[in-house]
Amino acid sequence: MPNRLRFAPSPTGDLHVGNARTAVFNWLYVKKYGGSLVIRIEDTDRVRSDSRFEDLIFRDLKWLGLDWQEGPDCGGPFGPYRQSSRTAIYARQAEVLLEKESAYRCFCSEEELGRRAREARQAGLAWKYPGTCRRLSPGEVARRLADAHPSVVRLKVRSGKVVFRDLVHGGMQFDSAVLGDPILVRSNGMPTYNYAAVVDDGLMKISHVIRGDDHLSNTPRQVLIYEALGWPLPVFAHLSTILGPDRARLSKRHGATSLKHFREQGVLWEALLNYLTLLGWAPGEDQDEILSPEELAAGFDIERVSKSPAIFDAQKLYFFNRHYLKECEPSRTVEWASDHLRQEGLLGEVDSRVRQWVGLVVEAFLPGLDHLSQLSGKVPQLWDFEAERAVQDEGVRQVLSSPGAARVVEELNNQLSLGKRDVVREWPSIVRSVKAGSGQKGRKLFHPIRVALTGRDSGPELDKLVSIFEGGSQLELPRRIKDCRARSSEFHNAMRSQELSRIH
Ligand code: GLU
Repeated sequence: MPNRLRFAPSPTGDLHVGNARTAVFNWLYVKKYGGSLVIRIEDTDRVRSDSRFEDLIFRDLKWLGLDWQEGPDCGGPFGPYRQSSRTAIYARQAEVLLEKESAYRCFCSEEELGRRAREARQAGLAWKYPGTCRRLSPGEVARRLADAHPSVVRLKVRSGKVVFRDLVHGGMQFDSAVLGDPILVRSNGMPTYNYAAVVDDGLMKISHVIRGDDHLSNTPRQVLIYEALGWPLPVFAHLSTILGPDRARLSKRHGATSLKHFREQGVLWEALLNYLTLLGWAPGEDQDEILSPEELAAGFDIERVSKSPAIFDAQKLYFFNRHYLKECEPSRTVEWASDHLRQEGLLGEVDSRVRQWVGLVVEAFLPGLDHLSQLSGKVPQLWDFEAERAVQDEGVRQVLSSPGAARVVEELNNQLSLGKRDVVREWPSIVRSVKAGSGQKGRKLFHPIRVALTGRDSGPELDKLVSIFEGGSQLELPRRIKDCRARSSEFHNAMRSQELSRIH
């Protein structure tokens, strides 16, 4: 039997890391062992489902680098792949079950059952549907139907043990006595989740059901529905719950966990894919955790997936992201950064010269970033050069108080005021002259140069900043960037007017 797996999201919100991990494990299984991945949209909850979310789910799955063979977007031999278009299929299978007397119509009012369930709960008693309508005669059923009495279809739960195999949890066994007869079709004709999932998985010939372990408790009911329909069981694999770093169930409290959030932060898809795979699965002992999609698929083994909860830690994700950002083809990060900085109002139109300049900016700032959207918090320093303010700064004063620092600033200013220079090309010789003129070297040379050009005592590599200032000053940006000459002369003046130069 060919491997057929499915990912079955409900379009009721953004795709978050828990669901995405389920999608990734299904995808990896197919990549490793071959077969087809089916995407099925579970939108029977008409109130909470929204096609906007469906679009976002597809966008996120594609962004994550996943692909699939069947789904509402690409069709396939077992469609339709949206549950809201399959109501007639569920009704037909319900008729089959009613005819076989594996299911029955129940006319009990929902309010009445709800009230009894609440009373039982308050008294601390377990409650299950007592099977009142199981005993109705065919004549009585026909009479109530003719009277248009609202009814649901319920499964007749058989007695005895319910067993199934789970690749993560091993052999599972439940006593059916604890299960009330579950509703298959509601009075409005809509199927319940358990029933629709089984009808779809059965008719779509799904061989492996890999999903979150929040569905483990649904599985015995689903197994009974398979049995009643006379269909073979798939193999199940229930993935562990995902917790936050504080070991509480992952929720909004732990910050945003949607794929959209990480995508918009400028986390690379490779980083997220790599990290999600490690939520419950680990490569062999001496294997690196940084793995390409191909390596992940080659090493993946569903039987080695852990049943203990996995911890989602955004800091660890950013650790992966820092790695992938360094490896990434620069054109990708530059494209992303250009869009981002334009949206933040820091860039106007992005032509090839601006893009080239953004390339320098990305290269300079990348080593300090967890994710690319942090750029917009860092790059304003390229514009915000205020010598008067800078010389008041504690760190800058510290640098300037070192013997010989003022002399470095002075020499730098002399060098940069010497006619028109190509500062970027001549930078090494400018530095040599400042060194010779001031008698300073190493930190004592470079630190004062840095504060004079940037107004700050730390930041990206100085050579890179020099190219950025010079290149940026020649571009038409929403705010002008000062070149090195303007910076050094302003700083020199500010320093003199503060009489800091006389300290030494
Ligand atoms: N629509 C269900 C969910 O999003 C899928 C359950 C299943 O995979 O059977 O949780």
